Parts: sequence; C-alpha cells; structure tokens
Amino acid sequence: MKKKVSSLKKAFQEDLKGVKHSRDIEQLKVKYLGKKGPVQGLMLELRTVDPELRPRVGKVINELKGEIAHLCEQASTSFAQAEEKKQFEKEKIDVTIPGKRHFLGRQHPIRIMLNEVIDILIGMGFSVQYGPEIDSDWYNFEGLNYPDDHPARDMQDTFYVSEHFLLRSQTSNVQLRAMETHNPPIRIIAPGTVFRNENISARSHVFFHQVEGMYIDRDVSFADLFATMEEFWSKLFKKSIEARFRPSYFPFVEPGMEVDLKCTACAGKGCRLCKQSGWLEVCGAGMVHPEVLKNGGIDPDEYSGYAWGMGIERLAMLRYGINDIRMFTENDMRLLAQF
Ligand SMILES: [Zn+2]
Repeated sequence: MKKKVSSLKKAFQEDLKGVKHSRDIEQLKVKYLGKKGPVQGLMLELRTVDPELRPRVGKVINELKGEIAHLCEQASTSFAQAEEKKQFEKEKIDVTIPGKRHFLGRQHPIRIMLNEVIDILIGMGFSVQYGPEIDSDWYNFEGLNYPDDHPARDMQDTFYVSEHFLLRSQTSNVQLRAMETHNPPIRIIAPGTVFRNENISARSHVFFHQVEGMYIDRDVSFADLFATMEEFWSKLFKKSIEARFRPSYFPFVEPGMEVDLKCTACAGKGCRLCKQSGWLEVCGAGMVHPEVLKNGGIDPDEYSGYAWGMGIERLAMLRYGINDIRMFTENDMRLLAQF
C-alpha cells in the first residue's frame, strides 16, 4: 500500500512538472483527486487493509491527498503571479520617456485687439450690440444721411448683394437699429467685420474690423465725446494720451471730426510711425446728425448724442508695429506664433 502511495506521489510530481498552463492545474487536480481518481481508489482499497493498520494507512493516504491539493494550489498561485507580472510589464509606464507636445491654438492679433477694446468700453459703461453683415441700403447709407450721389454708395466702393442689399461698409449700420430698439439713454458699442470694394494693398483690404461707439441722452455735448475719447485711448495705451480733433465730414455726424493721438512712439517729436507729424490718426467721430436721430425715431430737440468709429486693424498695426494690413490674413505662422 505504501508503495502504491509513493509511486502515485511520484506520478503526480512528474505530471505537475509537465503543466504549462494554469488551466491544466485544475484538470490535474481532478485527475488525481476526483471521484474516479487514483487517490479515491486507494481510499476504496483501504477496506481490504488489516483493520489494525487501517488508521495508519488511512492517514498516509489523507496526507497524500492534502499534499496534492496543496501543490496544486501553490502551482496555480505561481501561475497567477506570473500572469500578473506579464500584464504589469505590458502596462507599465516609463516616466522617463519625453512627453508629446500638444500645440494649443492662439488668439489672432485682431481678436486680441478687439477683445481689449471691447473690455475697456464695457468698463466705461457701454454695452455690446451686434448687427448684420449683410444689410439694407437704408441702415448702411440712406438712414445715415448719405446723399444718393455719395461716392461711398458707388459699386466701386461697396459690395452689393442685390439692388438694395449690400455687405455693410461700416459698423455704423447698428446705429439706427440701436435707436429703434432702445430708449435713451443709449450707450452702445458695435464691433464687427466690414467690407469695402478696394484694391488690396499694404494699407487697405476688402474686409477689416471696426468698433462703433454711440451715446445718446439729454444734453450730450462735444465735451462728453472729448472726455470719452481721452479716457478710452489712455486706457488702451496704458498711459495718458493727448488727443486732438480735426474737422472732417461724415454724413451721419454734424459736426464731424477726425481724432488724432499724440504719437505713442515719439511723444509728438516726429518719427517713422507718425510720418514725422507727431500725430496718429485713429478714428472718425462727431455729434450724431439730427436727421439720423429722426430716422431712428428719436426727437433731436430733446436728445443729442455722439458717435465714433475706429478700425481695429489700424490699432493692431500701431500696437504691434505691423506695417502691412495683408499680414493679418496671410496666416503666416512667423507672425501668428508671436501672439
Ligand atoms: Zn511718432
């Protein structure tokens, strides 16, 4: 009986050595310890053993049974550990490998300038109003007091979509819309894209950006416009800026004027930026024409207002020292990567 036990043990050990996969362990266990297996066979044979020896032999068989179960358990654990290690090797992260660089998008210099202008004016009490880029002749020209024969209305200056509709040539097209939808006091700015039928050159383009500002209330005077301009330009250039006004003509303002700032580069001494004049032209402005107020449904005897409009490209060119307006639309990374 003892011989049988030890030869069974040997056979099991040989079999165990041959196991290559964790799932074979379970089969091996069934093969030896199952109901029809050799160990169970020994247990049955135990009946034939002398009753006096039976407890000792039974103990030996039980020990074998325990040992087989234990070895199977051990093998199965070590297989599982090996699996785990393999998985870990596969998943492990080498923290010393250099990372991949992700390039974030950048803001376009025109967008940066536009946002800055809008932020400053919101801080000064203006609210933002947007208008359509395709608009009627009324909102862009006629309602703004442009005579029928004004050169700006010519097809050589303005892109017409149809007989009465056009790509707006100025953000002033928001003026009448604001008057129609608000009661004074009205204090709005209108940022956006405008279109002109021009030859593209270093100084002009077929589309660019403007911000229109307008304030209508009782007793609004030229002094209010002057003060607003100086405050705005000083905030934009982050230093005290001296402004001057030159008489000019725009159909929708009376009087109309051009606003010049003392050159930010040379402080008025004369340089290349200001073409030796000491002054920089930055915007057109004036007191809203009484006819325009009437067209917007506002009584010019009761209310008055001022308006101004500025080109964002012009400001960005001054701010960043860019001397060709075409650079804003060429998508040259050598320029864009600087912002
Ligand atoms: Zn200068």
